[in-house]
Amino acid sequence: MERASGPRVVIVGGGGTGGALAHDLALRGIRVVLVERHGLTSGTTGRHHGLLHSGARYAVNDPESAVECITENRILRRICPGSFEENDGLFVALGDEDLDWRDRLVPACEASGIPTRWLTRLEALRLEPLLNPRLVGALQVPDATMDAMRMPLRFFATALANGADIRPYTEVVGLTGSPGCVTGVRVVDRATGRQYEIGGDIVVNAAGPWGESIGRMGGVDVPVQPSPGVLVALRGRLCNMVVNRMHKSGDGDIVVPQRALSIVGTSSWVVEDPDDLAVPEDHVQRMIDEGSKLIPAVRTATIRATWSAARPLIGERGASTGRELSRTFKCYDHATEGVEGLVTISGGKGTTLRGMAELTADVVAHKLGVEEPCRTRETVLLPHTAFHHARAA
Ligand SMILES: Cc1cc2nc3c(=O)[nH]c(=O)nc-3n(C[C@H](O)[C@H](O)[C@H](O)COP(=O)(O)OP(=O)(O)OC[C@H]3O[C@@H](n4cnc5c(N)ncnc54)[C@H](O)[C@@H]3O)c2cc1C
Repeated sequence: MERASGPRVVIVGGGGTGGALAHDLALRGIRVVLVERHGLTSGTTGRHHGLLHSGARYAVNDPESAVECITENRILRRICPGSFEENDGLFVALGDEDLDWRDRLVPACEASGIPTRWLTRLEALRLEPLLNPRLVGALQVPDATMDAMRMPLRFFATALANGADIRPYTEVVGLTGSPGCVTGVRVVDRATGRQYEIGGDIVVNAAGPWGESIGRMGGVDVPVQPSPGVLVALRGRLCNMVVNRMHKSGDGDIVVPQRALSIVGTSSWVVEDPDDLAVPEDHVQRMIDEGSKLIPAVRTATIRATWSAARPLIGERGASTGRELSRTFKCYDHATEGVEGLVTISGGKGTTLRGMAELTADVVAHKLGVEEPCRTRETVLLPHTAFHHARAA
């Protein structure tokens, strides 16, 4: 049950970011109500690739994001024991151009603090026999496989145990207060259709790719560029490590083993509406064409499922594909634009959910005059099953 007194924060959005924020604020002794319009992690979080990034993918062109990823990669392994296959990742070089990229990638990883180990062709094939036999070598990095839903659910479970009030199937349809001052949210309970208001000292917009629409309710402009990508799940575990192509990030150049499936991804384009989640046939074909360059068996494997999800990238509308936008994150205190009581967290990766929450909770705590420091770097999270047990109880 939520605590009886003290400042209260309303979090809009039950993805990984909102869950990690509920956990951080609850640990600081702040009352939290989190509302999510569908089920928890039903947005982008529960539909992502399931790759705990080492940061190597971003090291050359997006070093800020690379540092965020390796920092959080290490913290998450510590606070979520058992949530990751400790399988590592390979960046596979298929020819001279990929080797040219290695000459930039290795020093960039070093500069970001990402450990690497060069493997000869034979060493790589011994680890992953189904790799393209034409490979010339591979770089081993601390990527890993995670469960896109269960890992974030551990944040919700721990927040719940620490008194957070988590309300799935509760959609925000408006913000309350007066122009220039947000004092809460107006919601619809999707089970009963009942409309009601929830008051808060601060409302945090953690609605990911839907962040712009929540911002609009408060009269502020949130620079979120929703950028979908397609994922293709193939029957069979074609690799045991995360397999990436050693080149500038592109389409279909990652294969993530997930239980008995292999997920090939992804593509990138931009949309106005994050619910506009098409799965273009040519993107599916591109996943197969590019993925089979890494692992030829991708070409003949049976497709089990295809889907898409939208990244909440930071950037003004009008980006061309989304690939040019950074994967870093930002927290906006809209008081700087004349709207008190509203904060937005946007951008980032599933891997950086905790760091995004820490940044936001620091802003929120400062605004509320709460001096409790962040403790989420050291606090080991409850298992995801604790969430279901607590709800059932
Ligand atoms: C194809 C693809 C693959 C990816 N793969 C990876 C990967 O392998 N590893 C990785 O680290 N990252 C990956 N990412 C990035 C990662 O998925 C996102 O950065 C992360 O999931 C965003 O989480 P979030 O909580 O900010 O947003 P979301 O998970 O989208 O959460 C926002 C929530 O807000 C809710 N909401 C919206 N409007 C309202 C409203 N009016 N009222 C109440 N609730 C509302 C939504 O329903 C949603 O659940 C991938 C992204 C894509 C698109």
